[in-house]
Amino acid sequence: MVTITGLGGFREVGRSSVLVEGSGRLLMDYGINVQDMGIPIRPPQKLDGALLSHAHLDHCGILPELYKRGFPGRVYATETSLDLIKLMLRDALKVQEKRGLQSHFRTHDIETLERKSSAVKFKNSISLKGAKVTFFDAGHVPGSALILVEMDGKRILYTGDAKFQETELMNAAWNNFKDIDLLICESTYTEKDHPDRKVLRRELVNHVLDVVNNDGIAVLPCFAIGRSQELLQILSDLDVPLYLDGMGKAITQMVLNHPSSVRNPKKLRKAFGKARKIQHHSERFKLLSQPCAIVTTSGMLNGGPVSHYIKRLHKRENCSLYISGYQVESTVGRTLQDTGRYVNEGVDVKPKMQIIFRDWSAHAGRTGILNFVKKIRPKKVLFEHGSRCEAFAREVSGMGFPSIAPKNGEKVNV
Ligand SMILES: [Zn+2]
Ligand SMILES: [Zn+2]
Repeated sequence: MVTITGLGGFREVGRSSVLVEGSGRLLMDYGINVQDMGIPIRPPQKLDGALLSHAHLDHCGILPELYKRGFPGRVYATETSLDLIKLMLRDALKVQEKRGLQSHFRTHDIETLERKSSAVKFKNSISLKGAKVTFFDAGHVPGSALILVEMDGKRILYTGDAKFQETELMNAAWNNFKDIDLLICESTYTEKDHPDRKVLRRELVNHVLDVVNNDGIAVLPCFAIGRSQELLQILSDLDVPLYLDGMGKAITQMVLNHPSSVRNPKKLRKAFGKARKIQHHSERFKLLSQPCAIVTTSGMLNGGPVSHYIKRLHKRENCSLYISGYQVESTVGRTLQDTGRYVNEGVDVKPKMQIIFRDWSAHAGRTGILNFVKKIRPKKVLFEHGSRCEAFAREVSGMGFPSIAPKNGEKVNV
């Protein structure tokens, strides 16, 4: 028998962590809730290994704490994710210090994690205390993985975050699985499908061309991992001056160091080469004198160079702010979305520049999740990483796929 316990991220989004116990004891993800800094229930001291699905902080944000508490084992993730978390965890530490929050780990613990991590390749199984573990492409962001754990004769598949449709940047998640006893499935979006990427793309291209032809500047605040690369790639096709600013620069370079983590590395390399990278603050003033497109962080407007651009462009009706990501509650971006006001760093204005919100989600939509369940036909589904896991589990059970949505801390036997 294998027992599954959600330590975080069950019936909620954020602080994802799952414990798998049988003849071995494995931890999958150990993240933080970036909104309220909530952390998972602490895992037992004795673990045979920690598996990481991808480099977003809600999945990896507290991993170094394992080492602070004396975890002797290793963390397993794709090479891309291991590279990305170096930056993500250090940046998180910096942000926490700036906000005066107490951190759960130190730089020293990140360094220990780096020494004690092992890269795994997609579809190459590793053996951990009698368990067999295999990573597969999750299609969510570069390096993201679905994790298959085979322990004591049971096959457990954990999606982490996944997207089952191809995008400009990513291949669709791998979906060729058989004889799965338990599917632990993210359910961020269970009520809607996301807009068609081709339609979004066409609309984005037309929008940027309109703005630039009208002597304006299109500012595109993006999440550093995934979205920056995707929009950069699309905009590089246009004959428009293109700039890349903020953390997306270093992340794109890292992604390019692992070409197999994206669908079309050649195209991304070309786009990265074409975009002018902003290195010094003074350049940010210079580029405002001509029409252009700027891909920059942060995706929810809370920090990063985007605030510089908004402060200087908000009065110009021929400029635009194109927001492509979900805006979490209590972020600057969410306030802008809800009230039409930009409130940040002592500034409170109603921008005259065009403000556009579009849904370029890197998560599966409702149909994507349902099709995945129907394709692999698991014996049981456990829905987590969502705000309506129980209702969705009932609905999917009604379709003939027994589903559950346990609480954090509740044990599930497989
Ligand atoms: Zn994610
Ligand atoms: Zn997530």
